[in-house]
Parts: sequence; structure tokens; C-alpha cells
Amino acid sequence: MIAETIAGLGAVKTAFEIAKTVKDMDNSVDRNLAVINLQNEILSAQAAQAALVNRIGDLEKDLARFETWESEKKRYELEQLPPGIFAYRVKAGMENGEPPHKICANCYNKNTKSLLHNLGSGNGLTQWKCHSCGFAEHSGHFNPPNINRSGSWMA
Ligand SMILES: [Zn+2]
Repeated sequence: MIAETIAGLGAVKTAFEIAKTVKDMDNSVDRNLAVINLQNEILSAQAAQAALVNRIGDLEKDLARFETWESEKKRYELEQLPPGIFAYRVKAGMENGEPPHKICANCYNKNTKSLLHNLGSGNGLTQWKCHSCGFAEHSGHFNPPNINRSGSWMA
């Protein structure tokens, strides 16, 4: 953005210098060449201005997204799932009509809301996955399945 600003200011300054000399030119060829150079500098300044306008638009979008996230993140609180998995859960009374859910702590810390998906539970473990950052872990403590050996054919 600073490069576009400097380029735009440089083009305006050059255009101004050319414009000062055009009025004193008697030779029409020199004057036409100076006008062409002037037009090129004006185009350069317009291109730099357009780049700045685009950049300002991008920054305004980033700011709006940041402000939305700052209020959104207050709906969540950090929780530790056993044995040591961290996630953010929506606070009681802050659901805003959404079902109870968790969001990814990695993404939260990068100012992004990404649901932590529960892929299923079994044998004391619950599998979690974040599709944004790829976080994949299980919480809980493994309980081996209870195998009934009394039904063996070898009795
Ligand atoms: Zn994530």
C-alpha cells in the first residue's frame, strides 16, 4: 500500500513538472510529446489511486470481519476435554438459537470460528475434527470392549 501511495505521488509530481514546461514550449512536436508524457503520468496516478481504493476496501472488509469476530468470540468459553484437549464451547444462555456446539481452539486463536465436529464416540473415546485447520483428536479414556468369553465353542 505504501508502494502504491509513493507511485501515485511520484506520478502526480512528474505530471505537475511536465505541465509547468508545456506552456513554454514553442515547438509543437515537443509539446505533443510532453502532452503524451503528461497523459501517461496521469494514467499512472489513476492506476495507483485505483490500487489504493481497492486496498482500502479490503481493509474495511477485514475490519468488519474482525469487529464481528470480537463480539462473536464472547459467546464462547474455553473448556478442557479429558485428557488434555482444549476447545471452546458456547456459553449457556448464549446459544442464539443454535444447538450446543464446540469450536476449534486453534482456529479461535487465529480469529476464525470453525465448528469442532464430533465424528462419533465409542469405548470411552470421542473423535473430534476441525475441517478448517485439520485438527483431529479424540477425547476421553479408552475402555476396552467387554468380551464375553463364556460363549466359546471350546467350553
Ligand atoms: Zn481449526
